[in-house]
Amino acid sequence: MEAASAIRNHLDAQQFSRSLLGWYQGNKRQLPWRGESDPYKILVSEIMLQQTRVAVVEDRYKKFIAQFPTVEALARAREQTVLAAWSGLGYYRRARNLHAAAREIVSRGGFPSSSEALQELPGIGRYTAAAVASIAFGEPVAVVDGNVKRVLQRITGKDLSEVQHWQTANALLAPEASGDFNQAMMELGAVVCVPGNPLCLGCPVIDFCATRGAEERQKRAVRNKAVLKYALCVKGGKVLLQQRPSTHSLMPGMWELPPFNHNQAAQPLMKLKHSITTTDYSVLVFAGNLRKGQWVLLQNAERFALTGLTRKILRNIRD
Ligand code: SF4
Repeated sequence: MEAASAIRNHLDAQQFSRSLLGWYQGNKRQLPWRGESDPYKILVSEIMLQQTRVAVVEDRYKKFIAQFPTVEALARAREQTVLAAWSGLGYYRRARNLHAAAREIVSRGGFPSSSEALQELPGIGRYTAAAVASIAFGEPVAVVDGNVKRVLQRITGKDLSEVQHWQTANALLAPEASGDFNQAMMELGAVVCVPGNPLCLGCPVIDFCATRGAEERQKRAVRNKAVLKYALCVKGGKVLLQQRPSTHSLMPGMWELPPFNHNQAAQPLMKLKHSITTTDYSVLVFAGNLRKGQWVLLQNAERFALTGLTRKILRNIRD
């Protein structure tokens, strides 16, 4: 608990949370899940927000909730339907786990209300469990995500370990307003204490901050480059799709265009860029004449669990 007591000595946690919460009430962004108290909807938003930008999630969240308004509706759905609704958000393991968690919640007869019990559900780790338990049920437990880590590092001026991040966040937490406090910390990291150059002049907790924007070394992830080639086979308004093997580690069971394997020189019909995790792909789409796969009416393709890249290519064809 060294870091936790250090932060108590360094800061007055109550004053800190008062400043933070006051700022949050007046400055929080209006997002579709803000003010939500339904644990299912909070869970959906939290899972979507992992690894996907808020601007993308905003629209997809509303559509997903319209399609699956309750945990029971999601539990009843077929996996392919859920994957199709998730298409474009990437990291499909999240959709599979969310679906499995919904089924588990329904089979248990209700939503677990503690962060500890929530972590027993498929795909729900410490962060998501704490976010749902604090926002939906008011459990006095802190969350630590990438934004919160950056805020804590800068406020303390220390290179905190994983354990110390959680201890420090819990030491600062306003227990009577844990849901708002957690959202305020994440919001601060997202819009004020941003990566690179933090906007310290507008920071509500600048008086508590040890670094106040002193530049830190940014560790940039090394990005890889690769080329992907696909065959576009179109016949009578239908397009040929193939399903990725269910055993594939990346996007198992999703639908995509068949790979283009010819070596002879050919001019691509389309070139585009696509990024997945740390790889930037140059994507080349060639006219193809294959038969293996499933012919799907172009206007019905969106009903399939398409990979994000396939969705992008088909959208380019239609536009
Ligand atoms: Fe971040 Fe600057 Fe606020 Fe410190 S003062 S928490 S560095 S925005």
